[in-house]
Amino acid sequence: MTINVAIIGSGPSGFYTADSLLKSDRDVQIDIIERLPTPFGLIRGGVAPDHQTTKKVAKAYEKTALKDAVAYFGNVEVGKDVTMDELRDIYDAIVLAVGAPTDRKLGIPGADKVGVFGSADFVGWYNGHPDFTDLNPDLNVGAVAVVGVGNVAIDVSRVLVKTPAEMAATDIADHAAQAVQASPVTDIYLFGRRGPIEAKFTNVELREMGKLENCMPIVHPDQLPDEVTGDWSDRDQRLKERNLATMREFLDVDPTGKGKNVHFEFFANPVEVLGSDRVEGLRVERTKVDGGRAVGTGEFFNIECGLVVAAIGYYSIPIEDVPFDSDNGIVVHQDGRVGDGVYAVGWIKRGPTGVIGTNKPDGDTAAKQIFDDVSSGEKAGRDALAAMLGERGVRVVNYADWQKIEAAEFAAASGDAPRRKFVTVPEMLAALE
Ligand SMILES: Cc1cc2nc3c(=O)[nH]c(=O)nc-3n(C[C@H](O)[C@H](O)[C@H](O)COP(=O)(O)OP(=O)(O)OC[C@H]3O[C@@H](n4cnc5c(N)ncnc54)[C@H](O)[C@@H]3O)c2cc1C
Repeated sequence: MTINVAIIGSGPSGFYTADSLLKSDRDVQIDIIERLPTPFGLIRGGVAPDHQTTKKVAKAYEKTALKDAVAYFGNVEVGKDVTMDELRDIYDAIVLAVGAPTDRKLGIPGADKVGVFGSADFVGWYNGHPDFTDLNPDLNVGAVAVVGVGNVAIDVSRVLVKTPAEMAATDIADHAAQAVQASPVTDIYLFGRRGPIEAKFTNVELREMGKLENCMPIVHPDQLPDEVTGDWSDRDQRLKERNLATMREFLDVDPTGKGKNVHFEFFANPVEVLGSDRVEGLRVERTKVDGGRAVGTGEFFNIECGLVVAAIGYYSIPIEDVPFDSDNGIVVHQDGRVGDGVYAVGWIKRGPTGVIGTNKPDGDTAAKQIFDDVSSGEKAGRDALAAMLGERGVRVVNYADWQKIEAAEFAAASGDAPRRKFVTVPEMLAALE
């Protein structure tokens, strides 16, 4: 009998799992359930709009989605439109691929002031994720503080300082493009508690900061060590050496004609957001690194800024009836087995780390576990889900519907932009009328 598998979430981890399941010779039917009408998770809503080449991985996922054994149930939220218990009744296996959609909290005094955002919200806003269309951050500010020294912090900074010409061939949401272009911002401060060696940038992203049309990357020469020391793997050692070399090259970038600056502020720990009810600045403690940890030195300084974006990591949200490890922000599992025919992959399994490809082995593991655990399918699967959602009046967006939405986005694009994104669910559904 056909093994019926529900995959909850259509990001990389969900698609890699579907792909792995399809590679076996077992008789399997896969339903990918996604709360948004649009598929691909953070490929659409996280990866920076000016990194279109990275987003092309969705073309491979599309091939999987179009396989006969696969159906896409978009605009269906587990926990709202259908419960986990109901899915357990109708699927032989359920794979949680729901990612980590919220932010780790900044957790310093003043972090609740108007003008403080988490990167999940801010990135979602410029990428046209419907949850964040109304975020409306006030970019009428001269300076922005970005807390964190990883790739997301760089993405946020870059999107804020690129010129309209540099952003022309992107799919940044219209509302964000307008706000960024109208913004008088000249200075972005990136804060890292530890030093340049500990920063988590990948080299390609870091290098890009030295090639921007209207923006200077500013590093403090006295913060750059002569060499990379520490107990790193060979791979990390090489990456860190490359990053250090790149930061040295920043010292030679010609500032002529560059109206904006991104300041890399290492050994600097934000301790308080300053201002009345709105952000007016950030109080920062100078740190030193001791045994790999940042330790406060008792020396403080303030910077003026009107916006703070905390890019200090993502966090999953608990799923009803599934044990959650709140310390690590992941589901409780044993190498991906959550128990009772339920499996976890991607960021809900491992936490919010790694690149797109890091999710692939999770899919391979889950597929193997499912085939080890389930010898023959016993449950009703797709037809039962479709009937249940039909009775509830849920407007399911299937893959052909998504292709129509996408075609409308392509058709609405102007200039070099690859698409003009719909940014609300009603707009997306209206494109199907
Ligand atoms: C800002 C940002 C930029 C990044 N840029 C890059 C990059 O340039 N290159 C790179 O290699 N990696 C990048 N990454 C990392 C990469 O995006 C992740 O590794 C990957 O997306 C994680 O996949 P996932 O499937 O676990 O989660 P996600 O991609 O988040 O997918 C989860 C999906 O589950 C859906 N979902 C959640 N809850 C429910 C529910 N209850 N019911 C139904 N559906 C649900 C969500 O809507 C979402 O579509 C970036 C990450 C971020 C945050």
